[in-house]
Amino acid sequence: MNLELIREKVEDNLHARLLLLIIPKLMAEHIKKQVDDFLKNQEEERLQEDFLEMNEWYLGRYKGNLQKRFKEMYAEVLANMKKKGFKIAFAKYKEDFDPDKWLFNRKPWYGTLTADGKALTAAPLERGGNFELAELGLSTSFDMEDPRVIEWIATNSKNAAFSITNTQYEKLRRIMMDGIADGEGIPAIRERIIDQLGLELKRAERIARTEVLKASNRGILLAMEQSGVVEGKQWVAAFDARTCPMCAQMDGATMPLGDAFFEKSSDPVTFTGTEQVPAPEGGLSYVFDYEEIMAPPAHGSCRCTLLAILRKV
Ligand SMILES: [Zn+2]
Repeated sequence: MNLELIREKVEDNLHARLLLLIIPKLMAEHIKKQVDDFLKNQEEERLQEDFLEMNEWYLGRYKGNLQKRFKEMYAEVLANMKKKGFKIAFAKYKEDFDPDKWLFNRKPWYGTLTADGKALTAAPLERGGNFELAELGLSTSFDMEDPRVIEWIATNSKNAAFSITNTQYEKLRRIMMDGIADGEGIPAIRERIIDQLGLELKRAERIARTEVLKASNRGILLAMEQSGVVEGKQWVAAFDARTCPMCAQMDGATMPLGDAFFEKSSDPVTFTGTEQVPAPEGGLSYVFDYEEIMAPPAHGSCRCTLLAILRKV
């Protein structure tokens, strides 16, 4: 055996020894990362399930109330159509018939639905707040007197009331005008209105879900602010057959606690995971021209929630 060969053998041996030293460490790190990821996913899944479960009851209550309100709203219009004046106006002025005189009176409905919204969203908001404080391991209870809480409930309830009332009003207006344009009589138009009510009673579920989950997530966000131990927030999507591409893309996105995931803007935007950027050509893009998005939901039927990023001590 020449010296060169011996040297090679020694080096090989050293490499092998080094590898033997490194491999277990690399494997341990790899396994640890997999275990950590698994636990993190489990934790997010658990959080998501608890979030949806605690809101089921509030959702049912919101939906039941809204269905009752829709029935009252539509009954008001159907009652107006039974008035003598309606029949006269309908027969006489078909060309320039004015439906606004015979639909429901919007103003009291803004008030009624605002009051309903305040009552029906305060409870899930408080529940969300206390849920988050418990998640953070704090024994304090959520402060419903916090001006940010009061302000949010008032503004959101008013916006929802105006949006729901105006949407129904416009739909009924369209039905009446379409009926007239098609040369229908009063009974046929009444039928159209009753059919529409059936659709709205089903839609109530979607509105209830959006409003209750919005309130609950706002409670979670405000609890993070009240806690003083949270510096950031992470978007957590619910993954199943119903997950939309937007929520899938948002999953894991993080933001400083006080910043919006999406600013209010009429320009299409997208999200890269830590920041909002102008929408790419042909990519996923969203327009949030109604309000800034501080927390989920980002759209109707969105079931996403938030995870706290703790302040480093
Ligand atoms: Zn979502």
